[in-house]
Amino acid sequence: MAHDPSTPPPAKAANFLRAIIERDLEAGTYDQRPFAGSPGDAAHHAAGAPDPARIRTRFPPEPNGYLHVGHAKSICLNFGLARDYGGVCHLRLDDTNPEQEEQEYVDAIEEAVRWLGFDWDVQGTRHLYFASDYFDFMYRAAEALIGAGLAYVDEQSADAMRAGRGDFVTPGSASPFRDRAPAENLARFRQMREGEHADGAMVLRAKIDMASPNINLRDPTIYRIRRATHHNTGDKWCIYPMYTYAHPIEDALERITHSLCTLEFEDQRPFYDWLLENLADLGLLARPLPRQYEFGRLNLTYVMTSKRKLRALVEEKIVEGWDDPRMPTLFGLRRRGYTPAAIRAMADGTGASKTNIWLDYAVLDGCLRADLEGQAPRAMAVLDPLALDLTNWAEVFGRDDHVEPCRAPAHPQRPERGAREFGLTRTLWIERDDFAEVPPKGFHRLYPGNKVRLKYGLVVECTGCEKDAAGRVTRVLARVVPDTRSGTPGADAVKVKGTITWVSRHDAVAATVRLYDHLFTEPQPEAGGRDFRETLNPTSLVTVRAWLEPGLARAAADLRVQFERHGYFVADRLLHAEGAPVFNRITTLRDGRAA
Ligand code: ATP
Ligand code: MG
Repeated sequence: MAHDPSTPPPAKAANFLRAIIERDLEAGTYDQRPFAGSPGDAAHHAAGAPDPARIRTRFPPEPNGYLHVGHAKSICLNFGLARDYGGVCHLRLDDTNPEQEEQEYVDAIEEAVRWLGFDWDVQGTRHLYFASDYFDFMYRAAEALIGAGLAYVDEQSADAMRAGRGDFVTPGSASPFRDRAPAENLARFRQMREGEHADGAMVLRAKIDMASPNINLRDPTIYRIRRATHHNTGDKWCIYPMYTYAHPIEDALERITHSLCTLEFEDQRPFYDWLLENLADLGLLARPLPRQYEFGRLNLTYVMTSKRKLRALVEEKIVEGWDDPRMPTLFGLRRRGYTPAAIRAMADGTGASKTNIWLDYAVLDGCLRADLEGQAPRAMAVLDPLALDLTNWAEVFGRDDHVEPCRAPAHPQRPERGAREFGLTRTLWIERDDFAEVPPKGFHRLYPGNKVRLKYGLVVECTGCEKDAAGRVTRVLARVVPDTRSGTPGADAVKVKGTITWVSRHDAVAATVRLYDHLFTEPQPEAGGRDFRETLNPTSLVTVRAWLEPGLARAAADLRVQFERHGYFVADRLLHAEGAPVFNRITTLRDGRAA
């Protein structure tokens, strides 16, 4: 069934995760589960009171880049489910990889999640956690696994280890180090921690099943030696846990109930369960344990959502930065003018499914229009200015510099917001394409002999135009039809088929307007393995000098406004200033960008 992209999808789309949560709530799976108020091991939680949160979810970004629209999906899902079911969602910075993580990203992630409308402060408790705070526990858990004969230090080369792992058709083969005694493994592991071995010299592996059809269970690496300064723990550690080992433990220490991740982790679930079951059996982790559920990634057409590729766009200066209004980062979307409500509506509208989906970008624009239609103030703006002279002005009004006052509603459906006021004068700016010397069929705007209404103003009749040596129209000439001003009894006396927007040359505000379009020409920029650089849209940004209605002279940064007939625009949060306005086009009024 085709989905009309101009209408936002229903607010609560099908979501199999809701069914799972509702089933758990009904079965009382997590009732009476103690929670100590902060993350910790089994003993810590055993001393806690029953968790007032009925479920716990978490959004666990790695602080190695800026959040993008794909992350928005995960944020809305995790925070949204917690909100809807009387739960709590943690913001967890998954900072176990020392190499790429930076404070700058941590700050940006917090800001972006808040901007999107979510909060991790719940009744005085701040559920903001750092995976690196669990390094001590992770180390203790590794020693416990070693002691139980469930982990060993492998000193094979990386190549030998890879070869020993086998592949989809070949079972793995045991490492010569696999059967070392726990005491020897423990001594080796402690040497690793003490920095007695070189980076890469050995790793700690879980001891599971080298013949498992699931390659992730063929003794996965859980700790490696890596001398790197960590943004949080500094040089305390020279061994670091692998993500697949760290993540389940993070969930369990925080008493997450429903651990939601994207589909590519499905094959990791058996290891997730193996690890947590064993650590619970060893008395280290509290039961009931968290469960992992996978949902499909959200891909948006004309957009790439891989941090690595977004970084390439920035580093290769294809865009102006992480918050370039064409970037699908939350900071880019914010600067472009997208509202948090529109992004949430898009994310919620796609529900959760078991397949990765490609969502039409038009859905996001539809959500934005639905959000702004009833809110955004209206204004007239001329983006491609052409002069219009009303040649009989002095005849009609007695003098050339007469200013005819006009009124327009601040918002057509909200009279309580009052009126905008501006003056109509002898010389105006109109859109270049509102005039045609020879009108194409069906053209009802300005052409010699035709009458149109200047919106909120008077009816004028076009008499001709002036051109430069190159034949380009430089000025349109028209005559005022007297007594036709909007809102006066004569307004309907003259019937016209066209109405055009305009601003008056005496009080229009000069502005820079940036007309943004998709960054790529193809809905799936990398389809067929193509390099995204081949599908860059050369006109993703067109900057024009425009004229705006005088009321916008004092527009504040971040003001979102509908330029009548053109679309929704926002005063750029960084560049806009009083006296030097800069507006970004968020989207047009209708789909099919030339609305
Ligand atoms: P990237 O590939 O851009 O680095 P990531 O998945 O590695 O993304 P993380 O910081 O690890 O980035 O992601 C945090 C959370 O956001 C994870 O739970 C991840 O599954 C989720 N997420 C990331 N991209 C998407 C997406 N396109 N749709 C839904 N969820 C996503
Ligand atoms: Mg990642």
